Amino acid sequence: MPNDPSSLSRRKFVAAAGAALVAGAAGAGQAQELPSGPAGRPDPSLGSPEPLPLDRQLGFAVVGLGKLALGEIMDAFTAARRAKVTALVSGNRDKALRVAARYGVPESGIYDYANFDRIADDPNVDVVYIVLPNALHRPFAKRAFRAGKHVLCEKPMATNAEDCAAMIAAGRAANRKLMVAYRCQFEPHNLTAMRTLRHGDLGPVRVVTADIGRATDPRDPADQWRLNRALAGSGSLFDIGIYALNAARFLVGEEPVEVRAQLYAPPNDPRFREVEDVVVWTMRFPGGAQFHGSTSYSYGFTNCIQVTCDRGVMVLDPSMEYHAQRLRIRDRVIQWSPIDQFAREMDHFCMAITDNLPIVADGAEGMQDVKLMLAILEAGRTGRTISTDWGYRRAADPATTVPDNLGVA
Ligand code: NDP
Repeated sequence: MPNDPSSLSRRKFVAAAGAALVAGAAGAGQAQELPSGPAGRPDPSLGSPEPLPLDRQLGFAVVGLGKLALGEIMDAFTAARRAKVTALVSGNRDKALRVAARYGVPESGIYDYANFDRIADDPNVDVVYIVLPNALHRPFAKRAFRAGKHVLCEKPMATNAEDCAAMIAAGRAANRKLMVAYRCQFEPHNLTAMRTLRHGDLGPVRVVTADIGRATDPRDPADQWRLNRALAGSGSLFDIGIYALNAARFLVGEEPVEVRAQLYAPPNDPRFREVEDVVVWTMRFPGGAQFHGSTSYSYGFTNCIQVTCDRGVMVLDPSMEYHAQRLRIRDRVIQWSPIDQFAREMDHFCMAITDNLPIVADGAEGMQDVKLMLAILEAGRTGRTISTDWGYRRAADPATTVPDNLGVA
């Protein structure tokens, strides 16, 4: 009885692997199995990757040794089963040498931005992972494709749609794959939310609400380029609002057909001379779901997403942490054991390359978000409702494509 309001709590939940802690009506801390997905299990051929011996794992060059690369990505290689780090690309050789020593990258695998093209001759590099400021994604993706490598590119894919199209075209011309690093699509709480919604227990999605913000600090080098339009492309929306936009799309499972928005920046705040601060926007989905949300570079840290359905509410709060998501479905709180989202996304890309499997976040996906964000900003600037019904359909739904190995590190 998938439409019975109480069936969520009655149904025998099946988990493919691992267990989650579920607290709620049954009491905190009790282990309970969770739903594996709506239309049955994901394709078993996409099951949890077995760890491969190192000599069969794909070699990654990490480009840009900043906060994300050093804080998360380098360590993720230890959890990855199909990906290993074999090269570093940095403008700071001393830093690159230190990082290389720590992670076992040979000195011959250290490149700078000028000699990066020599990576074409490096047989230890299969994939270039671009972790640079947004405006540099296009030039380095094109250089990586020219060097014959596959490209994993951090979000946002680029600062404008032309750059996205050029990156996609360069990948096609080189016959190499392109993926945008949307880690939340590999994160168990987000996947559980998607699968529960697709299953239909909660009924049709009526409203998605999301507020995602943090206060930027101009003293932090990682925030300096984010407040610079030439390097960032845009402000809060392109950097963090993108998580709300992307999540609304994967939770509803449809594409928005029109957007409206308002923009606001506190007067005289030097952080917002070039980029937007608060964006409040709405989106209409063709099946009747609505989105309303906000993002900001000045309000307190928050990343909460709520999905209101005909027969219940689910809340992801926080929704986009690196390690500590929390999902509530009606009165049940679901907390999966932590996994490394970056490792899972890298493994997914490796399997897409070696086994020619669909990529859940390919270049077209990255470009769709960029086009939608530009439409939202235009709506904010002009006060108009902007139609976004340009016919895009995503190639692979993460709810059914990402393996059901929740809880497995
Ligand atoms: P950082 O500023 O911390 O790192 C960027 C690195 O890029 C720098 O450390 C530097 O590395 C290199 N770089 C090259 N040229 C420049 C330049 N002109 N200005 C500044 N840096 C330059 O940024 P983040 O690591 O926070 O972000 C990098 C990318 O990752 C962005 O696209 C961002 O949106 C994305 N991101 C994604 C997240 C996710 O969860 N998926 C989270 C955070 C960021 P070096 O010194 O080695 O040359």
